[in-house]
Amino acid sequence: MTDLRIGIVGFGKIARDQHVGAIAETSGVTLVAVASRNASLPGVPHFATIEELLEKGPEVDAVSLCTPPQVRRAQAATALSAGKHVMLEKPPGTGVAELDPLIAMAQAARRTLFATWHSRHAPAVEPAREWLARRRIESVHISWKEDVRVWHPGQSWIWEPGGLGVFDPGINALSILTRILSKPVFVTAAELSFPSNCQAPIAASLRLADIDGLPITAEFDFRQTGPQSWDIVVETEAGRMQLSGGGRRMTIDGETLAEAPDQEYRELYRRFVGLAATGASDVDLSPLRLVADAFLLGRRHIVEPFVD
Ligand code: NAP
Repeated sequence: MTDLRIGIVGFGKIARDQHVGAIAETSGVTLVAVASRNASLPGVPHFATIEELLEKGPEVDAVSLCTPPQVRRAQAATALSAGKHVMLEKPPGTGVAELDPLIAMAQAARRTLFATWHSRHAPAVEPAREWLARRRIESVHISWKEDVRVWHPGQSWIWEPGGLGVFDPGINALSILTRILSKPVFVTAAELSFPSNCQAPIAASLRLADIDGLPITAEFDFRQTGPQSWDIVVETEAGRMQLSGGGRRMTIDGETLAEAPDQEYRELYRRFVGLAATGASDVDLSPLRLVADAFLLGRRHIVEPFVD
């Protein structure tokens, strides 16, 4: 079987930090081009836009869209129209409904649309899901607090409509939550803190529940300095399960049961190669729906302006 020839579109932080290395380390996929207005990768053919790549570039079978969410829908439609498989960075869109036509296009063209949730591939997430499946859960608390200046330097798109603000990392926690719990959850209340000069929240407190009234709380904050937290604590009849480090470590009452180095993006590309072999799609919108509902239900507070 020949390799899936892939073009990365949007050569920013995540493309550099994760995609290039993950493609190189995954069998069945080869990076053949980069499309980005201002950035390039030495030794790899470069094009300014996805249109230019598709028109003038080497043949590609697939594109990996690593641009901000506000421009991804149009790029995905362009790629699917050209018969390419599409991998979407998270979040899959700026709104929920914009995915519908893309899903239909992919199905009609028998091409893969893969909405990735990298945090679901963190090494302790599946062990946590399996452990919880056999226990009665009493409560869940998420603490996802990071310093936006460290992790998103100069990313002005994150503060614009559709940029999600603190939900950009927060949706990673929700992608894990919706994977490790066996029942669907929904938002019951949200408090959103908007800097006075921004169109997206810098902090959010959420209450969620499942059909049985399971109490779930989530605290997202972009203003964290010092120790960062990407933790989910689940109280159960059999003890406290904690997922920490964004899903890299799982402990039960403090004892480590699962811990491994990060291979999230290799897992994503492995899955993409498998999906593309048959043209199947994988688009789970449940984390994005929770974020959309938080915006629908959220009580807004205006807080001090954010200056990068
Ligand atoms: P980024 O550093 O801003 O990179 C995105 C790149 O897309 C930019 O460098 C830019 O390259 C291109 N771009 C920006 N605006 C564009 C526009 N209007 N039209 C076309 N291209 C545009 O952002 P990032 O951190 O890589 O994040 C990209 C996506 O990956 C986001 O959805 C984010 O949630 C997700 N992600 C990020 C991380 C992370 O740690 N940063 C982790 C996981 C997932 P050019 O100027 O060269 O065109």
